[in-house]
Amino acid sequence: MDCALPSPVPPWRATVLTLYPEMFPGHLGLSLSGDALARGIWALDAHDIRAHGLGRHRAVDDTPAGGGAGMVLRCDVLAAAIDAAVPAGDPRPRLLMSPRGRPLTQGRVRSLSEGPGLVLVCGRFEGVDERVIAGRGLEEVSIGDYVLSGGEPAAMIVLDACVRLLPGVMGRAESGVEESFESGRLEYPHYTRPRDWEGRAIPEVLMGGNHAAIRRWREAESLRLTRERRPDLLTDVV
Ligand code: SAH
Repeated sequence: MDCALPSPVPPWRATVLTLYPEMFPGHLGLSLSGDALARGIWALDAHDIRAHGLGRHRAVDDTPAGGGAGMVLRCDVLAAAIDAAVPAGDPRPRLLMSPRGRPLTQGRVRSLSEGPGLVLVCGRFEGVDERVIAGRGLEEVSIGDYVLSGGEPAAMIVLDACVRLLPGVMGRAESGVEESFESGRLEYPHYTRPRDWEGRAIPEVLMGGNHAAIRRWREAESLRLTRERRPDLLTDVV
């Protein structure tokens, strides 16, 4: 499946290896990322690993060496799928979705969005045969300390986070840089009309039009929320 439209500049390209290509583009085909896909700012191709499965049943998995529960994605099948979908010398980072991987951060997302695109490999079952990770230069990336049943939702999250940062995707440039994590802090609270709602008023400072005071209030709120909820972010920042 190829969701790209012709575009004068080479788009940021995502290639996904999955046992469920029909899951894509999924939510990425709607809203901000969907508009950007239709406009050719990015492109997506999802490839079925099973097309490289073995035998009449196109087997992709086998029992774990050494015994134990579950099944493991075969290295030969996955490597064949990667080789068919990704040309030799393709400069894009190759990420394997994995709960054992380095946790994804906004900083990493930003640098990935500034590159040529991504190759994303979605695991299933117990995971993939370890040998294909080194054999095809895959980097394990986790979206958090919990276990999903497959890498597809994780790949979609990586793509969602990257695509919204591509030039021309978000309306106002600053809506990308003031957000949670971009400055090592959580974002300040937002309000809009009505001014009073169920006895709760918008903070007075936001209604006064004093931009310096508003900036100070937002910085203070941002710091307060980060201290309360994510003190680890403050110690992480140099
Ligand atoms: N047995 C493995 C979990 C396999 S879950 C373990 O304990 O580490 C099946 C697949 O879902 C994985 O191969 C991976 O591609 C995906 N997955 C599960 N949790 C994930 C997470 N937190 N981040 C990224 N991918 C994840």
